[in-house]
Amino acid sequence: MDLKELDGKYIAGTYKRFPVVAVSGKGSVITDENGKEYIDMGSGIGVAAFGIADDVWRKAVTDQIGLIQHASNLYYTEPCVKLAQMLCEKTGMKKVFFSNSGAEANECAIKAARKYASDKYGKDRCVIATLNNSFHGRTLTTLAATGQEHYHELFTPLTGGFVSFDAGNLTVPKELCSEGKLAAVMIECIQGEGGVIPLEHGFVKGLAAFCEENDVLLIVDEVQTGNGRSGKLYAYMNYGVTPDIVSTAKGLGGGLPIGATMLGQKCENVFSYGDHGSTFGGNPVSCAAALSVLSRLDDGFLAGVCRKSAYVFGKLSGAPGVEDVVGMGLMIGIKTKKAAAAVVSECIEKGVLCLTAKDKVRLLPALNIDVDLLKQAVRIIKEVCADGPDD
Ligand SMILES: *Cc1c(COP(=O)(O)O)cnc(C)c1O
Repeated sequence: MDLKELDGKYIAGTYKRFPVVAVSGKGSVITDENGKEYIDMGSGIGVAAFGIADDVWRKAVTDQIGLIQHASNLYYTEPCVKLAQMLCEKTGMKKVFFSNSGAEANECAIKAARKYASDKYGKDRCVIATLNNSFHGRTLTTLAATGQEHYHELFTPLTGGFVSFDAGNLTVPKELCSEGKLAAVMIECIQGEGGVIPLEHGFVKGLAAFCEENDVLLIVDEVQTGNGRSGKLYAYMNYGVTPDIVSTAKGLGGGLPIGATMLGQKCENVFSYGDHGSTFGGNPVSCAAALSVLSRLDDGFLAGVCRKSAYVFGKLSGAPGVEDVVGMGLMIGIKTKKAAAAVVSECIEKGVLCLTAKDKVRLLPALNIDVDLLKQAVRIIKEVCADGPDD
């Protein structure tokens, strides 16, 4: 049996894979089992922030593996502490809890918000309001937080205490708040899985002010938008607001699993011994990887992300077969005349790996993608979009 057949036989059927076996790579080029090369415009869903086998990242990882690969949270390790310090110094947040994924980072954010509200106001103040069309993860609690019914259907009952509302309208959170039930509001500044949709500035500002006035915690899910993806270190920084809790994951480890939940001033001391934990959380190898990623995301580098973003928007906006280009930084959604899945399939044939999000083609290339490769990929995507479905 070949690998694809074996996968079908032994892997739980949750993933509809594209017909590519990723064997190796360098930077933004991935090589398959036949030696065919692809320009990677997805970076493993925004994870390999500096591409495949980046030299600096690889040295950080292999150096740490040579020292100690795991110690547990019973002991101190340097990469974990240094990473928390760097996250706090770069954001103004006060304390960090490390986990292993986006969903777990959000679980921690939710636990922190619930504990903060119940410590201060009692058990009834437990509701977390989230946005319709959001995505916050696949655990039963983060599914409950995800404001898209079709993810819920098969798995009820989900964790209670979540209410979703439309971006742009504060009626629901205001009502919950006046009833004394609202602990926190959780948002993605750019809804990723929902179709790469940036929230309106006025709405985010208004929401932050409402939260501040009412001591309702503002949680920003930066799992996909964070770590330079939007052109700023974290996407909330494009909005001039200060969240109380920030969760992040995907790009943080540059390809190794890590989640981080940053706690702001209000809730920095919300957790005591035993309130939360994670066996792998703060793993020294993942933290060394993340330190290497984060230390490179300075203003000069982020300006480069913005330049690349402007290039993609400039080339694709208004191009034949392209109806709309949305997003921020190197998190870009393309509404195409053709079905997004068809565009992605044709791009694969022509050696470019893209993603979809709802009805859009989604691009999340490595932040350091070589400009010539980016140009080549955009040219191919443009060709595929222009080439109509019926001709
Ligand atoms: C991917 C994603 C998650 C879930 O992350 P996992 O690492 O898959 O658990 C949560 N929130 C957002 C916004 C995401 O994009």
